Amino acid sequence: MQIDIVSVFPEFFDSLNVSLLGKAQESGLLDIHAHNLRDWTHDVHHSVDDTPVGGGAGMVMKPEVWAECLDDLLQLPDTGAAPRSLPESSPDKAVLIFPNPSAPLFTQTAATELSRAQHIVFGCGRYEGIDARVPQYYAEQGVDVREYSIGDYVLNGGEVAVYAMIEAITRLIPGFMGNPESIVEESYTGDPLLEHRQFTKPAVWRGLAVPEVLTSGDHGKVDRFRRDEALERTSRLRPDLIELLNCADLDKADRKTLIELGWEVSSVHPRHLVQKKQA
Ligand code: SAM
Repeated sequence: MQIDIVSVFPEFFDSLNVSLLGKAQESGLLDIHAHNLRDWTHDVHHSVDDTPVGGGAGMVMKPEVWAECLDDLLQLPDTGAAPRSLPESSPDKAVLIFPNPSAPLFTQTAATELSRAQHIVFGCGRYEGIDARVPQYYAEQGVDVREYSIGDYVLNGGEVAVYAMIEAITRLIPGFMGNPESIVEESYTGDPLLEHRQFTKPAVWRGLAVPEVLTSGDHGKVDRFRRDEALERTSRLRPDLIELLNCADLDKADRKTLIELGWEVSSVHPRHLVQKKQA
């Protein structure tokens, strides 16, 4: 997978060269480049921002400089013309992603889908963000444009959000992880459940023992204990995720646990709903 990142602080991404991401680049699985948006400016101050039209605080990133940069990275002709509608014939198979706090949440489902992409270009906003016509223009050129938020809070810039997305996406590329099994068992994978707690040795540490069942050697009981713990933790910490479960995917023991946790488990409802019991 080829990844291009555009930022006014490209050095932020130097640490992508360490650990598993570094190894994946050495092996040729990933090809990552961080570009300085200012390299596409023409004025002596290398300015990338201007005052907001309509007034207000802060500055907004200029569309012209973003367009020169993205035309190059996406290998689009610099037409300077009004947008065309070419949904079927994208000149480049790249996905163009802008982190944005006012966008849908980036999820494991999005990460899984994006792990199959050939080329991703990330555009990191700063100040009050990028002129809204930039994503609109590339979408109208037929490019697959996405905007994602990584959470309901505001960061200074898109760099941290892009870093988080790159980690979430790339670890799902086949061959990235030494042990692919560790991905299969994680939170949000398969069922939208939080993972059970994890423990290592010693069995007792500072007076705190690991749950006895985990040392029993009975794999069936261990699996059931972990599954019940995943259901219980998700019910307590993220009840919104329990409501996404499909009853058809639950076994008898799952149903029993959910009912004990106060959920109504329907086997007749057409959408197989799991709902919180009315108090
Ligand atoms: N004016 C924007 C607003 O109120 O929604 C905030 C802009 S923020 C200071 C600057 C840039 O940081 C954004 O353009 C975006 O690239 C990035 N950013 C900030 N918070 C983010 C979040 N929660 N998720 C993704 N990107 C974020």
